[in-house]
Amino acid sequence: MSSFASRMSRVVASPTLKVAAEADRLRRSGVDVVDLGAGEPDFATPEHVKDAAHKALDANFTKYTPSAGVMELRDAVAQRYKIDYGVEFKPEEVIITAGAKQALYNTAMALFDPGDEVITTGPFWPSIGDQIKLADAKPVIVQTHMEDGFTIHAAPLIDAITPRTKAILVNSPCNPTGALMSEAEMAKIADAASARGLWVIVDFTYEKLIYEPVKHNLIKVLFERMRDKTVVCSATSKAYAMTGWRCGWAIAPKDVITQCNVIQGHSTSNINSITQKAAIAALTGPQDGVTTMLNEYRRRRDAVHAWLTADPRIVCIKPGGAFYLFPYIADLLSPSGIKSSGEFAEALLKEVAVAVTPGEGFNAPGFFRLSYATSIERLKEGCDRITTFVQKLESSGKLTAAR
Ligand code: GLU
Repeated sequence: MSSFASRMSRVVASPTLKVAAEADRLRRSGVDVVDLGAGEPDFATPEHVKDAAHKALDANFTKYTPSAGVMELRDAVAQRYKIDYGVEFKPEEVIITAGAKQALYNTAMALFDPGDEVITTGPFWPSIGDQIKLADAKPVIVQTHMEDGFTIHAAPLIDAITPRTKAILVNSPCNPTGALMSEAEMAKIADAASARGLWVIVDFTYEKLIYEPVKHNLIKVLFERMRDKTVVCSATSKAYAMTGWRCGWAIAPKDVITQCNVIQGHSTSNINSITQKAAIAALTGPQDGVTTMLNEYRRRRDAVHAWLTADPRIVCIKPGGAFYLFPYIADLLSPSGIKSSGEFAEALLKEVAVAVTPGEGFNAPGFFRLSYATSIERLKEGCDRITTFVQKLESSGKLTAAR
């Protein structure tokens, strides 16, 4: 009998972080890995943000802060959302967390009971499902489909509601599909949720990475309809190239924030004090760097999409947001060759040293995720290696045997 808590048998190690660790291990052993695994901007953190961190260090801003973060940063989050979305909330309705990941985790621990059902969409970022399980609740996955651009429709989510449903959790733009939820669909979800007293939680991590001028003011839609049951989680990580700094937040009614802070106060306490000063600079300083990065991501998205889909066996939609491609490769799998996207990713890493994340971790076998948050040169190198790998598969005869 295992001596671990039973919840540990329901979850697995983060597949995204696993790929990153494996790529790192290979790199340290001297292999020239093209790492398209973890979603991590290759850009440097903006200078004015780093300057704020230097200043914080020089001023010995190195002590504990309040567990929920310094008021100035909680207020900076509120001011940013007021400018960006026209919504108003108080700093007391914000908690500063170690990335959006901890914001979502605190929320799950604060809101979900054993037996609760939490409706979310698949393919999903792996931590969403496993955080729900760590709270002893049950993820109910409503699958979105490539043929439909992985569009998140309200109707199937509403249909999945049962008397045990506690919350609906939406990730838009979605990691890994890049799909965006429309305001109209969010309004339908909000109406259905508020009529039944359900929570709506939005993972807004990629809120700044939207390529076309579409309306995506999901927070306003929710605030207008069900402010007392809305939680929005986001971070500085992707928008400001600050993954390693670990700064995120949850925006929620004050009593939810209080409960999240109880959890945080007994687990991690405040996030790094210097990061908090850097994050204030990111949120209150010039925002043009965000647009510069977005434009570069768009260029990369288009290039990588063209390179990969030059092979008709790699089927891939062009995402509307985030920085991932999510190709479907069933035509490259076969019972006598590579059987799953997990095996495909493993072989890709072993044979041509390209790291991608297999679809299984996202509840999407047959797919893999490729992050294009890396330089165009490395992306070209990675795509060339993928093409070489596929050609090798082809010449081994294992592909044709399957069809
Ligand atoms: N969110 C990023 C990803 O999906 C970083 C890794 C993680 O935290 O899961 O790759």
